[in-house]
Amino acid sequence: MLNIVSIIFGALIGSFLNVCIFRLPKEESIISPGSHCPHCKNQIKFYDNIPLISYLLLRGKCRYCKGLISTQYPLVEGITALSSLVLFMRFGPSLTYIIYFAFVAALIVITVIDLYHQIIPDVVSLPGVGVGLLASLVIPQITFFDSLVGTLLGGGSLFLVATLYQWLFKREGMGGGDVKLLAMIGAFLGWKAVILTILLGSLIGSIIGIIIMVLKGKDFKYAIPFGPFLSLGAVIALFYQAEIINWYLYLNR
Ligand SMILES: [Zn+2]
Repeated sequence: MLNIVSIIFGALIGSFLNVCIFRLPKEESIISPGSHCPHCKNQIKFYDNIPLISYLLLRGKCRYCKGLISTQYPLVEGITALSSLVLFMRFGPSLTYIIYFAFVAALIVITVIDLYHQIIPDVVSLPGVGVGLLASLVIPQITFFDSLVGTLLGGGSLFLVATLYQWLFKREGMGGGDVKLLAMIGAFLGWKAVILTILLGSLIGSIIGIIIMVLKGKDFKYAIPFGPFLSLGAVIALFYQAEIINWYLYLNR
């Protein structure tokens, strides 16, 4: 029963995340005005704004002009609902669940905005650092010290790599947005997770990059933002950090 509540709660938050994803890059208010159809500008009524269900009932089209509704809406709502459920099943009805869900929600917003615009908005990542540091004081999963070292390592290490890259190749390889994102990840998950996130993000990013390069014949250095891979790496670290580190230590006995 509570699992179903966590799914509904997740879908509702997902609906809000969609608003953030559309409006934050344009620096519009995320509170007002209400949602409207991008084609005919008609105000969307509350009964057409039910997460996931409205999209299915309307078969992906606006009630008034039949213009296509972006598949981003149900995708983000679905992924957010699923994240909520998985986190709830892992951490139960606790403060940890709320805090990690907020963290994953921020990663979802960052991922989609980075995919569309190749930017990571500071208005998400910088407050995220603060929330992560404060959260370490109230949840048992992480100490404040670990959170602080994670923030510094996350912010510092990528900054170092980015500076080195720029010095070697005379152009910007990684955006400053990635640095702040990794600082946020460090604040929520600690320094070990930062290292794991960089390794996982680079690994997954390289594999996807090579696939895109082969398929499209493009130089992938220009093509792919790094934020989504760091975010994915962070989610894997959130759930399997201990398992992966233990496995690694076991291999190196
Ligand atoms: Zn319309």
